[in-house]
Amino acid sequence: MSGRTVYIETFGCQMNELDSELVSGQLLALGYTFTTSPVKADVVLYNTCSVREHAEQKVWSRLGELRLRKQLQPALVVGVLGCMAERDGVDLIRRMPVVDVLCGPGELDKLPGLLDNAVRTRESLLAEDSPFEPASERSASQVALQGSTSRRSGTLAAAADSLELLDLSRSVSPIDSDERGRRSAYVRITRGCNKFCTYCVVPFTRGAEVHRPPQHIIDECKRLADAGVIEVTLLGQTVNHYRFEHGASVVVDGITQPQKGRSYTGGHRRDPFAGETTTTFADLLARIHEEVPGIQRLRFVTSYPRDFGDDVLEVMRDHPRICRYLHVPAQSGSDRILKVMNRGYTTGEYLEFLDRARSYLHQPEIGRPLMISGDFIAGFPGETDEDFELTMRLLERARYKNAFIFKYSPRPGTIAFDKLPDDVPEEVKRSRNGRLLDAQNAISANISAAQVGLTLNVFVEGLSVRERKKRARERACGTGLPTPASGGVSLTLRGKSLGVEVEPAETQPESPGTIQLCGRTDGDLIVLFDLPEADQAADWVGRIAPILITSAGALSLFGEPAPAHAASAR
Ligand code: SAM
Ligand code: SF4
Repeated sequence: MSGRTVYIETFGCQMNELDSELVSGQLLALGYTFTTSPVKADVVLYNTCSVREHAEQKVWSRLGELRLRKQLQPALVVGVLGCMAERDGVDLIRRMPVVDVLCGPGELDKLPGLLDNAVRTRESLLAEDSPFEPASERSASQVALQGSTSRRSGTLAAAADSLELLDLSRSVSPIDSDERGRRSAYVRITRGCNKFCTYCVVPFTRGAEVHRPPQHIIDECKRLADAGVIEVTLLGQTVNHYRFEHGASVVVDGITQPQKGRSYTGGHRRDPFAGETTTTFADLLARIHEEVPGIQRLRFVTSYPRDFGDDVLEVMRDHPRICRYLHVPAQSGSDRILKVMNRGYTTGEYLEFLDRARSYLHQPEIGRPLMISGDFIAGFPGETDEDFELTMRLLERARYKNAFIFKYSPRPGTIAFDKLPDDVPEEVKRSRNGRLLDAQNAISANISAAQVGLTLNVFVEGLSVRERKKRARERACGTGLPTPASGGVSLTLRGKSLGVEVEPAETQPESPGTIQLCGRTDGDLIVLFDLPEADQAADWVGRIAPILITSAGALSLFGEPAPAHAASAR
């Protein structure tokens, strides 16, 4: 279906961002073009998230808006991809016939075929258009969902893992100097989840946990590095549980298939299956570090607090290009609530892990402090004031650089939804959420302040929020200056792509005539810095540069190019 123009909008986590990138690459290769403006598109795709109700509501409202548009443009094809498609299934089309395509996260390799069929079906619906049954109110109904197969046995999942082909077919084009914002990339190592935390939809929408063959991951990293990528973030719901056992791998049509991990009782400090025929998570990190030297920064998210072995910490300590950053959600500070959540660890074990990780990796004296972030759910069913105070204490003790704090959102299909009444009143959830945020902001400000005076290596990602807003204002005033692309995908300055806006809108007094860029440290701290001349900006984006930290806010650090580097960049 070459020649069609696609608009794709992504909701939710990094895994969804990667899925959108892979799907877009596949459609580009088939001749589709892309637009950042939904009104210019023939095909509108929403890649959705179901983790909290709020994320779903945004999609419902987008679909509601498209109903009117489809009356004016009945050939428009609308697709819902990802977790909402998988969770709601064909009920979604019944409720919103504006939707033509449903494609679950485990079936994304089938999207081109579905779109092709949807375009043809819409054409025949248009041919049959009548006032009694307008084409605009009829769905082309192309559906690919895992449904009841989403929790297949390990062997079946492996034998039928066509999704691996989508990752393998990733189109990686060389990054030229105009596109330096693309020098950071995600690489999936594990799909799905087997943890079944009682509040979470992921095991139902993304299916059973499978681990990709290490060689596929390393080859993907090499291709990205050859194209100019210098930062890779490995993705999985529980990355530290990655393990690939070579003796047990299944090969289909010459391609080694992803593998369901062997289950074990847990509580170990080193992968119990480590050995010559197994690639553990520690082995994988070490291999990427050694075999792909072009990757200057290697990160991974998300880590599961249980079974994070010393073997991984040692590899992180001994391999300088692996970032000193861990994202390890705690969810609650109450052992009673953790048990009802089915998290599989106690607060004591969680804190022991943070202490152990810091003892291996916290080295501010060599400019490499360990930064840790966490997640919490406020107002989980049955959470009492005492439980919540324990969570406050854990957050204070953990000293995260930042924390993602969510009000509990009951999700149909989960155990908590079915068995536990959502009994914490909304205003209590809100107030607990606010208290956690306030406490975290104070800790973040404290950690930021401790960085002042240090020179930190910063991966420069693009224009700051302030700079973006300034450019948008200038455009509104008709100055004719170039402006950032809408849709939050990429930023351009004088025709050069400057990457993605990332940092929260924390401001600092503006010096006239300067341009403000943003980036991240090894420990994932956000840094904003001014350049004296706007012309230099494009040369800085996509590089790792030393920045002297001169002041700090709660959410970001402010700095200036370290003197030697500033001179050499000129
Ligand atoms: N796999 C990661 C882990 O377990 O640590 C987290 C992945 S989950 C998709 C991202 C975050 O969403 C979780 O850490 C949790 O804090 C939050 N979350 C998941 N389900 C939720 C729910 N029903 N209500 C509120 N927050 C939820
Ligand atoms: Fe969801 Fe728990 Fe799996 Fe994380 S580990 S994705 S919270 S079920």
